[in-house]
Amino acid sequence: MTQSTQKINLLGMGLSSLERFFTEELGEKRFRAIQVLKWIHQRGVDNFDDMTDVSMALREKLKLVAEIAAPEVTFKQYSTDGTRKWVMKMPGGNAVETVYIPEEGRGTLCISSQIGCALDCSFCSTGKQGFNRDLTSAEIIGQLWVAARSWDEPGKKRERHVTNVVMMGMGEPLLNFDNVVESMGLMMEDNAYGLSKRRVTLSTSGVVPRIYDLAEVSDVSLALSLHAPNDALRNELVPINRKYGIAETLNAVNAYFERLPDKRVCTIEYTMMNHINDSEELANELALVLRDTPCKINLIPFNPFPNSGYERPSNNRMHRFKDILQQAGYNVTIRKTRGDDIDAACGQLIGQVSDKTRRSEKFIEAVELGHTAAMVATKRNDRSSL
Ligand code: SAH
Ligand code: SF4
Repeated sequence: MTQSTQKINLLGMGLSSLERFFTEELGEKRFRAIQVLKWIHQRGVDNFDDMTDVSMALREKLKLVAEIAAPEVTFKQYSTDGTRKWVMKMPGGNAVETVYIPEEGRGTLCISSQIGCALDCSFCSTGKQGFNRDLTSAEIIGQLWVAARSWDEPGKKRERHVTNVVMMGMGEPLLNFDNVVESMGLMMEDNAYGLSKRRVTLSTSGVVPRIYDLAEVSDVSLALSLHAPNDALRNELVPINRKYGIAETLNAVNAYFERLPDKRVCTIEYTMMNHINDSEELANELALVLRDTPCKINLIPFNPFPNSGYERPSNNRMHRFKDILQQAGYNVTIRKTRGDDIDAACGQLIGQVSDKTRRSEKFIEAVELGHTAAMVATKRNDRSSL
C-alpha cells in the first residue's frame, strides 16, 4: 500500500467511522459518508476527482487530508477454472495472498487477516512462516476491493462475482479483532458490498475469550478449526488448545450461535491428515464430541507443503470418515481442492512474511536436522505432557 503518513486512508473505514470523519473532522454533513462509501466500494473508485456528485470544494478538501490507498498487487493469476489469485504487497517486506474460488451459483473470496500467524499449528504453512503484524482494516477490505474490481470492464455495469467471503487466508482473525470487525462490517454494509451475514465467515482456531467478544458486536458466520476430537491430539496439532481446551471452546461456540435469531450452525473444519486424525475411531469420537453443537462438518484434504511430514489421506479413508459422521446424523462435506493448478487452495496460502518471531528460522533449522513439522509437533507435545 503506497500510503503517505499524513493522510487518512478512507478505504478501511466503516460507515460510522466515516460519518465521524465527515462530521467531526471536516464539519460536513453526515450523508457525505454514504456517498463516498458507495464510490469507493461499489464503484471501485480510488480518486476523489471521479466522485462527480461530490462538490468540487469538498473534493479538493478531501485531497488535502485523505486518500484511498489500496494494497499494491504485485502478481495475479487467473486460472482456467475461474479461480483467481492475487499477491498483494504490504509495507515492510511482506505480502499476502488472496484467492477467489467460483462454484455453482457463488464465488468465494478467501481473505487474510494478518501477515503470518503467531499460533503455529503443526500442519499449516502460514504458521511455519512466523508472524510479522496485523493487517490494517484497509489492508483487509482492500483485498475484497481489489478482487471486486478485477472483472470491471469500462462502461459496463458491475456484476457481483464475490458472493461469499471467508477469513481463511493467513492469520488468526480473532487476534486482530478490531480491524477484522471493522472490515467485516464493510463487507456486510449495504452501501459497500452488501453481503449477507450468512455469507461472511470468520474462521478461528479457537481464541475463546474473543469468541465471546465477537458475540457482543457481530453476527457473522463462524467456523471453528477443530481438526481433532480429543485434547491430546488437538494439543499437538493446534497448540492454542493447551490454553483453551475442546470443551471450553465448544461452549463458546454454542453460546455464539444460541443468541442468533436464525438457525445458522457452526462450520467445523477438520483438515484430514493420513494416519494422524483420520481413523474410524476418531470419526466416532468426533461424532460424540459434537453431539451438543449444532454444526455442519467440512473435511479439508490436507494441502501439502515442503517438509510438513503430513500427507493427504486416500479418498477411501476420507469417505469412510465421512460416512461414519453422516450415519451419526451430521451434515458432512469433503472440500473440493480447487485451484490446485495455481497453488491457491485455501489453507495453502503462502505469503511473504518478514518474520518477527524466530519461528521460520527454527523451522528451517529443524528441517536441516532432518525433521518435519509433524515430528516437531509430536516432540513438543510429548515434552509438555510430561
Ligand atoms: N487461523 C484461522 C483461519 C485461517 S486458516 C483458523 O485456523 O481457522 C484457514 C483454514 O485452513 C483452517 O481451518 C486451517 O486449519 C486450514 N489449513 C491450514 N493449513 C492447512 C493445510 N496445509 N491443509 C489444509 N488445510 C489447512
Ligand atoms: Fe494460524 Fe490458522 Fe494456520 Fe493455525 S491454521 S497457524 S491459527 S493460520
